[in-house]
Amino acid sequence: MRIVQKFGGSSLADGERIHRAAERVIRAAQEGNQVVVVVSAQGDTTDHLISAASDISAAPSKRELDSYLATGEQMSACLMAMAIQAMGHPAISLTGWQAGLMTDGNYGDARVLRLSGDRIGRELAAGKIVVVTGFQGVSSAGDIVTLGRGGSDTTAVALAAFLGADKCQIYTDVDGVYDRDPRKFSDAVRLDTIGYDDMLRLARQGAQVLHDRCVELAKEHDVKIQVLSSFRPGPGTMVTALP
Ligand code: ADP
Ligand code: ASP
Ligand code: MG
Repeated sequence: MRIVQKFGGSSLADGERIHRAAERVIRAAQEGNQVVVVVSAQGDTTDHLISAASDISAAPSKRELDSYLATGEQMSACLMAMAIQAMGHPAISLTGWQAGLMTDGNYGDARVLRLSGDRIGRELAAGKIVVVTGFQGVSSAGDIVTLGRGGSDTTAVALAAFLGADKCQIYTDVDGVYDRDPRKFSDAVRLDTIGYDDMLRLARQGAQVLHDRCVELAKEHDVKIQVLSSFRPGPGTMVTALP
């Protein structure tokens, strides 16, 4: 099988968490799967980058800001590839542009269009775990663009769609999708499954757990998403077309 596994910022916040995620990824590869890993920037890195840019300029150029913000994911992708390699499994990190993830040129809120070339496929065929930076792609002008806050989820679903993956797993800091934010409401209920339209409604109302565009793309390409905790075992939530 071909699997996409995405890890959010809190799942990669320090070295120990990166190692835990790397172990999970290697386990999936050892079960005979081709594994593409999508990573977010570690912890609050993106917030820190935004604040550092605003210290330099009150109105930074959108082009430079996007190239700068994309470095957070680049750092975690390299660290993840190093962690996997250190555990004895071949791995390679690719940025959005190295992977060929083409987007429109709308800085800070770009839409994913297609996957160009077959770099990921070639690296998978060579037996490597491929770690791709979330949150970013390349425009037809050749510039790095970002997909909007929370956009690494969209990278994962886009790659699952374009690579014909059998599974798209989103590892995060809650053990699935709830009817309300479980951090704010102690009586929130975890859902075993949720349809694309209901999930889209939650995401558009601001439920951070999935980026709204990732749900749109999943619906369009019929990508089934499994939302799981990085920290606790459990079945998570399947986001899918309901019968
Ligand atoms: P990641 O860094 O893994 O992408 P996010 O912080 O973007 O994680 O999303 C996970 C967070 O989404 C949870 O910590 C939770 O507080 C929040 N959240 C909001 N609404 C919901 C919901 N309905 N179900 C689950 N989590 C939700
Ligand atoms: N690092 C980006 C953000 O903080 C993208 C993501 O985490 O999905 O918004
Ligand atoms: Mg997120």
